[in-house]
Amino acid sequence: MVAAVFNTVLHRMSMIHVGINGYGTIGKRVAAAVDAQPDMAVVGVSKRSLDHEAAAAVDRGFELYAPDTAGDDPGGNCDIPLAGSTEALIAESDVVVDATPAGVGADNAAKYARTDTDVVFQGGEASTVAPTSFCARANYEETVGQAATRVVSCNTTGLARLISPLDEQFGVASLDCTLIRRGGDPTQSDRGPINDIVPDPVTVPSHHASDLQTVLPSMDVMTKGVTVPATLMHLHSLTVRLECAPSVDAIQGCLRDERRIELVTSDYGQDTCADLRESAYDRDRQRGDVWENCVWSESIAVDGRSLSLLQAIHQQADVIPENVDAIRALAAADDAETSRQVTNDALGVGLTGSLA
Ligand code: NAD
Repeated sequence: MVAAVFNTVLHRMSMIHVGINGYGTIGKRVAAAVDAQPDMAVVGVSKRSLDHEAAAAVDRGFELYAPDTAGDDPGGNCDIPLAGSTEALIAESDVVVDATPAGVGADNAAKYARTDTDVVFQGGEASTVAPTSFCARANYEETVGQAATRVVSCNTTGLARLISPLDEQFGVASLDCTLIRRGGDPTQSDRGPINDIVPDPVTVPSHHASDLQTVLPSMDVMTKGVTVPATLMHLHSLTVRLECAPSVDAIQGCLRDERRIELVTSDYGQDTCADLRESAYDRDRQRGDVWENCVWSESIAVDGRSLSLLQAIHQQADVIPENVDAIRALAAADDAETSRQVTNDALGVGLTGSLA
């Protein structure tokens, strides 16, 4: 009996207590993912607009906190019971995930720096917001023991996750990617309707090249951005110059070994991003989330040392397992491989054939 109580106390002490500041597209997914981890506990979530999403957070059992300015927010001002201020949430947490809109995280940085609480920023912030940028497959160890990191954007996460194993196995001499970007998330009605195909930006390389170099510094990379009127996913068209000339089978084998990469195929009728999202809904993925890079098997072509392929990235979802791993790296709780495995198992990432 005494031993059981002792073990329970020990378990609670070893849990990482996580606060989520900003409960929108990314924050609510991070909260659910943290809640699913065996070694983490959600202290609460903080949100400026006290709207239907805040009410849903309370219904899910999360304690709701808010900044002092919450009452003035025109986006939502429901009468929802608050557990306290954002400052209280930060003070009660070991690690805070800042998922506020791009730029607000940088404004919050000084607030975090005044506390002992570590912080995970998002890709909308400049890389200078934290000492490291983070992708669990590329550079987990650099963040171990730091007080802050920044999970790179959805597009950069998708690229880093793909290029890291290819580089390890075959050597990547250079990479050229055209990123066909969704115009907005499904709830961002203010971004549309649009009827155009927009070079975004018209200059090259797009910012994704230098962002990728924050996690893979020596990568020779060219990126071009194009925005299209779609909300479901991004699509990357890649040409990778390798240091050897592997077979298509070898490339497929390399990617198949990665739980955060799913090889999808026309044989299953998965010809579009809409098909991929529908597969996720059909498999009862919460919010229809696709955490994995979806690489079309049939698109993988090798011509000597030149590899081409197409991959789809669910912009709302691929950074979620990365946020969980970033929390463990800051807390120095596990090595990269163990953390990725715990995260994957807890979420159900990369069940081979789940989407294919
Ligand atoms: P969002 O607008 O959907 O959500 C932001 C949340 O922050 C909302 O709940 C809002 O109420 C809250 N908020 C606003 N100001 C606040 C404040 N001062 N204090 C506390 N809460 C505040 O934004 P998002 O799309 O989730 O983006 C968050 C971050 O994640 C950004 O850096 C973005 O670039 C990055 N990101 C977004 C996506 C995506 O596809 N949406 C993908 C990858 C990374």
